[in-house]
Amino acid sequence: MKLNTQSFALNLKHNKRAITIFPQLLILVFIVLLSDVTNAQSDSAVFAWPEGKRAAVSLSFDDARESQVISGTPLLDQYGVKATFYVVPSTMEKQLDGWKKAVTNGHEIGNHTLTHPCTGNFSWSRNNALEDYTLKQIRNELKECNKRIRELLNVKAEVFAYPCGQKFVGKGINTKSYVPLVADMFIAGRGWMDEAANDPVYCNFAQLTAIEMDGKDFDQILPLLEEAKKTGQWLVLAGHEMGEPGFQTTRLVMLKNLMEYAKDPSNGIWIKPVGTVAKYLKEHKK
Ligand SMILES: [Zn+2]
Repeated sequence: MKLNTQSFALNLKHNKRAITIFPQLLILVFIVLLSDVTNAQSDSAVFAWPEGKRAAVSLSFDDARESQVISGTPLLDQYGVKATFYVVPSTMEKQLDGWKKAVTNGHEIGNHTLTHPCTGNFSWSRNNALEDYTLKQIRNELKECNKRIRELLNVKAEVFAYPCGQKFVGKGINTKSYVPLVADMFIAGRGWMDEAANDPVYCNFAQLTAIEMDGKDFDQILPLLEEAKKTGQWLVLAGHEMGEPGFQTTRLVMLKNLMEYAKDPSNGIWIKPVGTVAKYLKEHKK
């Protein structure tokens, strides 16, 4: 009887321990489950692009260089790929028919200011330096450029690219960012010579990053595409002339390879103009 009492007491002790251990076990199981869910979420954190695509790519070209509509858009049109062209109207006028055709074929026209002001550290911009601008002046440039684009092409420019990728006016303590102005006037503002692609959920539309594609072969672009696919990013590529290898020139051979890659459904690339992607994100990223 004594033994029985002892074994009862022992059982009770074990049960008590089991009762105190049980909630701890529950917490542990909960933590393990939660970390599994978190891992699954970070694995699937890749943004849901349309049509099950894994990344977005925008091709963009600046300054309305003549080669863009002489040899660039005909190649893009062969592949049915639409790009964004950030134009300076006075340069655009040199090939106006080509630009009209580009618009008819679905390419996007963006604003790149009226006179392309950059820092006066560039000797060619010393007499039209951002350091000497005010916010009022730059706003006027942007407005006038939009007006000119409408007159020449009957298009409303909804996107903008900062000349030289520079986003300021003034000097010293009077330096001001004109990013808020761009945010107010356009659905997207694109930089230049950045190092990262855009995170579709996080990105600031008025300061989209762009990676240079001038002077590059496809094997230099491919790692950027692969990285964008892995992380679900939006890669905006930026270039100038379009043709054979040369100064500030996006190589047509590279573009051909890039478009073939993007057209292969197994690569899951959504290749669209900047404005199209920006609008999609603004609608879907909430
Ligand atoms: Zn430019």
